[in-house]
Amino acid sequence: TTLNNTIIVTGGAGFIGGNFVLDWVKAGLGTVINLDKLTYAGNLENLADIEGNPNHIFVHGDIGDRALVAKLLAEHKPRAVINFAAESHVDRSIHGPEDFIQTNVVGTFHLLEEVRAYWNSVVKTHPEEKENPQFRFLHVSTDEVYGTLGPKDQAFTETTPYAPNSPYSASKAASDHLVRAYHHTYGLPVLTTNCSNNYGPYHFPEKLIPLCLLNALAGKPLPIYGDGQQIRDWLFVKDHCSAIRRVLEAGQLGETYNVGGWNEKANLDVVQTLCSILDELSPKADGSSYKDQITFVKDRPGHDRRYAIDASKLERELGWKPAETFESGIRKTVEWYLQNQAWVHNVTSGEYRNWVSKQYSGS
Ligand code: NAD
Repeated sequence: TTLNNTIIVTGGAGFIGGNFVLDWVKAGLGTVINLDKLTYAGNLENLADIEGNPNHIFVHGDIGDRALVAKLLAEHKPRAVINFAAESHVDRSIHGPEDFIQTNVVGTFHLLEEVRAYWNSVVKTHPEEKENPQFRFLHVSTDEVYGTLGPKDQAFTETTPYAPNSPYSASKAASDHLVRAYHHTYGLPVLTTNCSNNYGPYHFPEKLIPLCLLNALAGKPLPIYGDGQQIRDWLFVKDHCSAIRRVLEAGQLGETYNVGGWNEKANLDVVQTLCSILDELSPKADGSSYKDQITFVKDRPGHDRRYAIDASKLERELGWKPAETFESGIRKTVEWYLQNQAWVHNVTSGEYRNWVSKQYSGS
């Protein structure tokens, strides 16, 4: 074979990419070149468990840096590139969409261009790679590209038309379209996954679940947007990672796979469940419930009401199933945060703190 058993992961110092890299390296599946810009969301502490492991090579850089990406591809001859790198927070995209366009759209475009050049060079020397590609470019995306659902609408399938409503989801939709076009136009061997909301270890505390966990323990208000009845479909991050591994291994080139756990929950229910688990695992001294800290705040502009993902294609065609239910996954998450207070302390200093105070100061 012409390619090494090496993969390039972009955004592997973030929440999902970090979990993916940890699982991959710990399972001994091969070498990972981890290209990450280390924005506010990227944190090398997420990878402390594999520090010094020769199968993990961290490279500090941008997916839009063509020379760097070309060099990494030529040097390592990977059998796959998995693109997690993105600006990922909807609220930030409302306050400042520019970075989202730069990384999610322009950055993905540059990455695709270099991957295409790499694959062409492989095909030149090994024509069999064109007929039966070994190489894969896997693009990690979100269910938010499909827009919002009414209470009785069918869950999103792979053929649901794209209708993104936030700058974040619009930028992800644009990148998905580019990936699709590179397959149809240039024959690049691509795969795309569109996943529902993730939760679990190493989740940066600007998102609902870790934010509420941290605020609960700090005795602060638990901010709920609007009436708290926005419905999201939740998946434990390790299940998302196992789905990506499965799609990488057996997915049909050029296809899209929805990933989800059939766990539709209203945001308020999620926070109440979290509070109940905390009441049990870390009871307050005065015997009151963490639920008393729930505070409703002004809704986010253009807030989608409901996302629900139909993952039956992935289950039927590739035999994937999540290992966790929402109840087991959320319990593991609470336990992880309680046991990893040092990680929490370190990521809650600096820029994150400024961001949260700007968001929830009532201004
Ligand atoms: P995250 O914000 O935690 O991590 C993103 C990582 O990408 C960070 O480490 C950051 O430093 C890095 N990065 C940002 N811009 C970069 C650039 N230009 N070059 C290189 N690295 C860069 O995000 P996440 O929640 O782990 O999401 C990862 C991917 O999964 C994203 O593409 C996101 O759209 C998608 N996704 C997320 C969810 C979710 O619930 N979090 C659900 C479905 C899909």
